Amino acid sequence: MVESVGGYDYEFVTNLPEDLTCVVCHFALKNPVQLEDCGHRFCKECFDQMKQHAMENYLELSCPLDRQQIPNGHVFKDKATERTILNLSVKCRNFGEECTWIGELREALNHGANCPKNAPRGNEKFAIELQQILNGMAELAAKVKSSEGKVRANEEKLKISEGKVRANEEKLKISEGKVRANEEKLKISEGKVKANEEKLKISEGKVRANEVKITANEKKNCR
Ligand SMILES: [Zn+2]
Ligand SMILES: [Zn+2]
Ligand SMILES: [Zn+2]
Repeated sequence: MVESVGGYDYEFVTNLPEDLTCVVCHFALKNPVQLEDCGHRFCKECFDQMKQHAMENYLELSCPLDRQQIPNGHVFKDKATERTILNLSVKCRNFGEECTWIGELREALNHGANCPKNAPRGNEKFAIELQQILNGMAELAAKVKSSEGKVRANEEKLKISEGKVRANEEKLKISEGKVRANEEKLKISEGKVKANEEKLKISEGKVRANEVKITANEKKNCR
């Protein structure tokens, strides 16, 4: 038993000719293949299922219409028939009060998405809008969260920077303290130097006074 949903299940505006109908699924041929020897056509999908069925049951593959055997490779894609079928006019699957669309089968394949019958209405429409709003809110919340994460990361960096600044301020204070201590030592040293200079001056004064005395004595001795 071959089960198939191969062909195009549409209502054609003009009756579908028998040679454009698949004998397996009884729908309009979809991706038709033609048998080379008898000329019968099948949907590609329907033919593949026939082949599969024959293989699984060790049967010779044969045309279901005339029982002619189908040698390997005696089948080809029927592009011309495919074009003919796609050019035929069909009614929308929802044809009636809500949709009166009629058009080529190739366009009907894309009509479903635009069919007014498929358009959401009332509560359904509201539910979709609500879902979109909720999705938007969720997206926004995710963005806020990621922003907060960045802010927190920056705050951490800022804390570390502040810590470094404070550490440098401490070092600076210690350095300033040392500088001040050195300045104190320098003042003391300068004071000592000045005191020594005073002492030196006094000594030099005494030396000069003694020299004067010596010179005076020498003069006395020379007489
Ligand atoms: Zn078929
Ligand atoms: Zn045949
Ligand atoms: Zn429609």
